Amino acid sequence: MAEQSTQEQADHTSTVAKHYNELQESGLEKRKESRIFHLRNFNNWMKSVLIGETIQTVCRQSQERVDLSVLDICCGKGGDLLKWKKGQISKIVCADIAETSVEQCHSRYQEMVDRARNDRGPNRIFSAEFIAADCTKKRLKDMYKDSNMSFDIASCQFSFHYCFESYPQAKLMLQNACECLKLGGYFIGTTPDSYEIVRRFRDSPDHRAGNDVYSVTFCGEDVDNIPLFGAKYDFHLEGVVDCPEFLVYFPVLEKMAEEFGMKLVYRKPFDEYFAEKSEMGEHRALLGRMSALECYPPPEGTALVGNCPEDYKDTEIGLNK
Ligand code: SAM
Repeated sequence: MAEQSTQEQADHTSTVAKHYNELQESGLEKRKESRIFHLRNFNNWMKSVLIGETIQTVCRQSQERVDLSVLDICCGKGGDLLKWKKGQISKIVCADIAETSVEQCHSRYQEMVDRARNDRGPNRIFSAEFIAADCTKKRLKDMYKDSNMSFDIASCQFSFHYCFESYPQAKLMLQNACECLKLGGYFIGTTPDSYEIVRRFRDSPDHRAGNDVYSVTFCGEDVDNIPLFGAKYDFHLEGVVDCPEFLVYFPVLEKMAEEFGMKLVYRKPFDEYFAEKSEMGEHRALLGRMSALECYPPPEGTALVGNCPEDYKDTEIGLNK
């Protein structure tokens, strides 16, 4: 029985890796024709605001100009590199399970370096390191070039849900995100809103929700008795995702993160986050520039920001609570 569940676990992780490795990079023209063009732009806008505001907060917290270092867990093809560049960070480590995505992320970075070669000042490019690894099963700390590497921000965008396949995977993912954070550093992320998904499963006789571009299908037996880990559902999003995902029960995530010295400072469903941020001039302007407004109403998701508090000053973050 135990062997069977280990086998099943291995299959899910490799299914996800295989899926993302095989995902074709489509050009902008093709993306514009896609029915999820505005949805993707909307998600990118959410990330831009979250990343930009977190960078501003870290800079405000620090008295002097900081050389910001960032860990992008589940970086994918590097869709956020430009956002980090805009934030003028100094260093990034990008990690993802899908080797092909990591290679594409590296190439994208290299193109940015080539373009910025002659730039000085704010356009100067940050340094970067790339790691292909299952962040739910391998300890990233042992893989950084600099064994004393520490980060101001760890970011996990649209990916954290994969680790809720099992408790050990969720624990290691959180450890990877939090153990190398500097004091006062932030873990930020976006993840599907499990409360909303479960509500829709319960409302539907076949425990399935969606429309003609996306669907979520519950894979468990009892929708009224959902386990804390391994609560699998199949997610389909036209042309982009066809993978198993796992419900993240937020109170458990919060409790586990506390064990790594973190406290929750901010959490908002996408619709509330959108309502709050889109009222602000600079964010509203970006919404227009990114062709994201057409996506309204916003998709279901949760933005979260966890902060590593000051009172952990004399402890090794996350380990000695
Ligand atoms: N963060 C990127 C973004 O926002 O554009 C990519 C998001 S994509 C929806 C999910 C990513 O999570 C994929 O690149 C996938 O390979 C990665 N991923 C899934 N499971 C993972 C794991 N166990 N370890 C590391 N990366 C994983």
